[in-house]
Amino acid sequence: MALIVQKYGGTSVADTGRIKAVAERVVSTAGRGNQVIVVVSAMAGETDKFERLAGEITDTPDEREMDLLLSSGERVTSALTCMAIQKTGHDSMSFTGRQVGIITDSSHTKAMIESIDASRLKEALDEGKIPVVAGFQGINEFSDVTTLGRGGSDTTAVAIAAALSADACEIYTDVEGVFTADPRIVPDARKMDRISYDEMLEMASLGAKVLHGRAVEFAKKNNVPLIVSSSFNQSPGTLVTKEDGDMEKIVVTGLAHDKNQTRITIMRVPDSPGIAATIFDAIADANINVDMIVQNISSDDNATDLSFTVSKKDEKRALEITEKVSNILGSRGVSINSDVAKVSIIGVGMQSHFGVAAQMFETLSKAGINIMMISTSEIKISCVIDVKHMETAVRALHDSFNLAKV
Ligand code: ADP
Ligand code: ASP
Ligand code: MG
Repeated sequence: MALIVQKYGGTSVADTGRIKAVAERVVSTAGRGNQVIVVVSAMAGETDKFERLAGEITDTPDEREMDLLLSSGERVTSALTCMAIQKTGHDSMSFTGRQVGIITDSSHTKAMIESIDASRLKEALDEGKIPVVAGFQGINEFSDVTTLGRGGSDTTAVAIAAALSADACEIYTDVEGVFTADPRIVPDARKMDRISYDEMLEMASLGAKVLHGRAVEFAKKNNVPLIVSSSFNQSPGTLVTKEDGDMEKIVVTGLAHDKNQTRITIMRVPDSPGIAATIFDAIADANINVDMIVQNISSDDNATDLSFTVSKKDEKRALEITEKVSNILGSRGVSINSDVAKVSIIGVGMQSHFGVAAQMFETLSKAGINIMMISTSEIKISCVIDVKHMETAVRALHDSFNLAKV
């Protein structure tokens, strides 16, 4: 008997009709002799709605309160999905993150799972029940509710699969798998049958929201086979797995885009030791992640411009902190640009090929797109550009690297 964790995303549980369809799928998997644990997201749009409601009250909501608010969407779906399964005649029980022993750190709204005590889940399975777990949440050491960051239900599913050594973790969503680029932007994007953990990790952390980055990290670390497929049909989906020989031949596997970026620049900051540390320590202390950093060469005044990117939701706080530090350092001022996007190409084969970066820059240049920032690693190249060119850039790069063809 196989143990399968099935996670259903927001669109897959968008209304009670969809929830009933999910229940049918779950029960039919159980009917084939499997043990099934279900993890659900909030109904489509609910989490956005909660963020909007909080925003109508305050610009800077208390993050502890935010987490209690955000976590409620998944509780609703877990109870409804459980009822739908029970209605088919199968025994089922819903659980919150706390009830399945998910302990996280205290970084509210982007907490990391520290441990899972799977005993209640095991007990439920032993009693023949189908457990339905509210995704995206846990509790910290003070028993306060935490959430795992947007898209975090994937991580709940993988963490449970790892804790119980499940045979597979199936992520059901509104597309048929992982594509060479977001199929909503690139109509001829190709669905991949397989992708390596490392490439998927890069794609996810660079903005391909089909999987939560932490979920892929967990899957890789614990060797959990991840299958991404559609909850709307029976097509086979994409297997996220260990790298193999065939995969290495492909130079660029896919590309990702991320609109959720803001660039902050400190102008004419003194070019001396310790300055970068002062700025980025202050930002790190506020629990804000900095992504790209670019520092220009200093000119005659021995001062330089320093730009970095943060995610949009952190931009207000990052700006406040940077302005404070800028005053202390005596720099000329701080500017902010929210109209930026990051486009990235990803591929493990890149490390053994020359000219990939040049081809990327040339493609963007031919499309008349200016590059504001660049960052590279062994298996990816990212460029920050004006957001208004993002879709053009993604399509041009997809063509240039022949990603539509096998
Ligand atoms: P769910 O609610 O099921 O978790 P998400 O909205 O989080 O679904 O993720 C699925 C979406 O990810 C798709 O609708 C698609 O637009 C987007 N996406 C971005 N990049 C990719 C990609 N490379 N492959 C597939 N989908 C992608
Ligand atoms: N409901 C959360 C979100 O919309 C978590 C998830 O769907 O994975 O981000
Ligand atoms: Mg998601």
